[in-house]
Amino acid sequence: MERLYFTEEHKMLRDMVREFARNELAPLAKEIDETATFPHESVKKMGELGLMGIPWPEEYGGTGMDTLALVIAIEELGKVCPSTAAIMMAHTSLGSAPIYHFGTEAQKRKYLPKLASGEMLGAFGLTEPNAGSDAGNTQTRAVAKGDEYIINGQKVFCTNAGYAGVIIFTARLIEDGEDRGIAAFVVDRGTEGLSLSPPEHKMGWRASDTRAVFFADMRIPKTNLLGSPSGGFKQFLKTLTGGRITIGALSLGTAQGGYEAALQYSQEREAFGKPINKFQGISFKLADMATQIQAAKHLVYNAAWLKDQGHSVIKEAAMAKLFASETAVAVTTEAIQIHGGYGYLKDYNAERFFRDSKILTIGEGTSEVQRIIISREILKAVNSV
Ligand SMILES: Cc1cc2nc3c(=O)[nH]c(=O)nc-3n(C[C@H](O)[C@H](O)[C@H](O)COP(=O)(O)OP(=O)(O)OC[C@H]3O[C@@H](n4cnc5c(N)ncnc54)[C@H](O)[C@@H]3O)c2cc1C
Repeated sequence: MERLYFTEEHKMLRDMVREFARNELAPLAKEIDETATFPHESVKKMGELGLMGIPWPEEYGGTGMDTLALVIAIEELGKVCPSTAAIMMAHTSLGSAPIYHFGTEAQKRKYLPKLASGEMLGAFGLTEPNAGSDAGNTQTRAVAKGDEYIINGQKVFCTNAGYAGVIIFTARLIEDGEDRGIAAFVVDRGTEGLSLSPPEHKMGWRASDTRAVFFADMRIPKTNLLGSPSGGFKQFLKTLTGGRITIGALSLGTAQGGYEAALQYSQEREAFGKPINKFQGISFKLADMATQIQAAKHLVYNAAWLKDQGHSVIKEAAMAKLFASETAVAVTTEAIQIHGGYGYLKDYNAERFFRDSKILTIGEGTSEVQRIIISREILKAVNSV
């Protein structure tokens, strides 16, 4: 399949990230998961390697590659350390992409070079206590007053927030007492009136940082509006469509991490006098896991390729995210089964990949939300005939 999609440049990037993940992330992955430690040093190195700004043009400090390149890098990081991959993924496709796609030239020049070099991390706040799947129910308010907006409200589950230099968020824009709809804003984390909760204690992605963000009479200049006023919600939905491809990529990496651990263990572990993969009960599991991963790869690479060709990928990105994330959960569950009782212990990597897989069916739109999007797209096409 690589032959179908990957250029020589993609292959070079894959080999470079694979080597980095093996040498730099593998020795840390277990420990940072157990201690829930944010991998500052790894993020710095990823910045130096050009991995924190893969899709942005070189004029903004990026690597100038495409969506497929971003997918390849996230997949390789995810095979070894899904937490670190999640940090880079959220930073790029959620915390930086809206600035590149919807920002003014001044906003791009101010933030993108720092984001692309890894000097600054990006975060993205859409979810609120009462606005998750129902993101349109955003209650954070931005009241226009003179040259400023005054922001009050709260975001939850904000990845990277604790270490981000810049946070992008949505709020209801109130002008002259009128609700103008949901708009997007960009804010430096040190801004007065912005505060953070302690980090959440999570099942997986434990080395990534997830927090609530509070806005209490936070004043920001009107130049911090991102994109068109009242166009914020549409922009975020567009951002999430791109994000779904990259969470699909992380699902591929997580599934393969579990699969490769199980494949190796099945060769080493003996029962009834032979390696357990000599039993059809185990070899058929491996066959199913490999097949599911292969199918998920086709969906994710194809969605990335279509996006890079300029096509609308609302349905394709949702299909890729849905199938790849559910594959990651299924494959990592079977990886535990193949490890038997040892799979239940923290000594083996299978347990970590299993825990890291579950968020993939929830973040950036749950599986149920992906099915809503896919069915809506299918029925739209049928009904318009
Ligand atoms: C580790 C982690 C990191 C995250 N990072 C970010 C981030 O960086 N930025 C950000 O903005 N958010 C982030 N999120 C939030 C995440 O995107 C939301 O949790 C997710 O969208 C679901 O929203 P919710 O938790 O409010 O669940 P709800 O929306 O309350 O859903 C609860 C259940 O109801 C189902 N449901 C809801 N509506 C429907 C419907 N119409 N039809 C059928 N079923 C439905 C859902 O599928 C789900 O099963 C993160 C979450 C986690 C756990």
